[in-house]
Amino acid sequence: MKARAFSYFRAATIDHALDAHARAGDDARFIAGGQSLVPALSLRLQAPRLLIDITHIDELRGVRRDGDSLRIGALTRHCEMLSEPLIAEFAPLLHAAAPFVAHPAIRNRGTFGGSVALADPASEFPAMTLALDAEIEIAGPSGRRRVKADDFFIDLFETALRPGELITAIYVPLFKADQRFAFDELARRRGDYALVGCGIMATCTGERIDDIRISFFSVGNTPMRVKGAEASLIGSDLNAQRIAAAQGALEGDLAPPESDEVPPAMRLHLARVLLGRLLGRLGEDA
Ligand code: FAD
Repeated sequence: MKARAFSYFRAATIDHALDAHARAGDDARFIAGGQSLVPALSLRLQAPRLLIDITHIDELRGVRRDGDSLRIGALTRHCEMLSEPLIAEFAPLLHAAAPFVAHPAIRNRGTFGGSVALADPASEFPAMTLALDAEIEIAGPSGRRRVKADDFFIDLFETALRPGELITAIYVPLFKADQRFAFDELARRRGDYALVGCGIMATCTGERIDDIRISFFSVGNTPMRVKGAEASLIGSDLNAQRIAAAQGALEGDLAPPESDEVPPAMRLHLARVLLGRLLGRLGEDA
């Protein structure tokens, strides 16, 4: 199948892109890496009249320190999550997750902003923005704003983005000496979307966990923090008993939907297994 005919506009600035979208209304889409949008066009799952290419907008590029945060431009490609030294040093959870996103050809084109905007519940990076307590910077017809990742993912492929708004950057708190992280996923084959995946950021004093954010993907309609499991770990040393308690708490935190691929009970079991492994690794890092 081929995509329906569309017009193409290459935006040079954010204002250009926003104006073009405002003029075309619902019939326009921004295109970044095209790794999700182009297949959707080819399958005619989407058929906009206008594509607004945002890949030539300089303001959406680059990774730099900004106070206590790392500003990661929306156009940062998945492959740059692996190659950019600032990300390896100050956002190591993203660096750890990047090799699990698709395959090299897709990582060479796909962008961080595109992945977060799409909000596929099976994607690695949207879930990691939750674990990292990141903020999403948005530009739109009524100005600029920042939205916490906790408030960004609303429902299946539904986010806090309003029509015609553009993600400009994602701000991630700088990784600190008293923090630990862990990431892994369970997939049938490397490069496939995960059956279950998880990323963890913890702040510790010695063995004790002072704060922890645990985010799962491929377990429901959105990436999800598991607040019951988090609460069961805060204030305690990471030992076998606490890990078992956190695994038990997942029953209340997660309600995986029915699916042909993996029954809900199996997905919950896989989530428990994965959480146990990752918390075990965090303990080893102590
Ligand atoms: P595009 O395809 O250009 O756009 C996607 C959507 O986001 C569109 O609606 C577009 O309008 C919107 N958009 C893009 N940028 C912005 C922005 N800055 N602001 C607002 N809206 C914007 N992803 C994974 O996470 N894990 C995987 O394992 C994985 N496997 C894949 C396997 C295959 C075979 C393919 C084709 C893709 C896979 N992907 C996977 C998806 C890939 O990572 C995409 O690149 C990513 O989801 C979207 O980024 P993009 O830059 O390509 O966005």
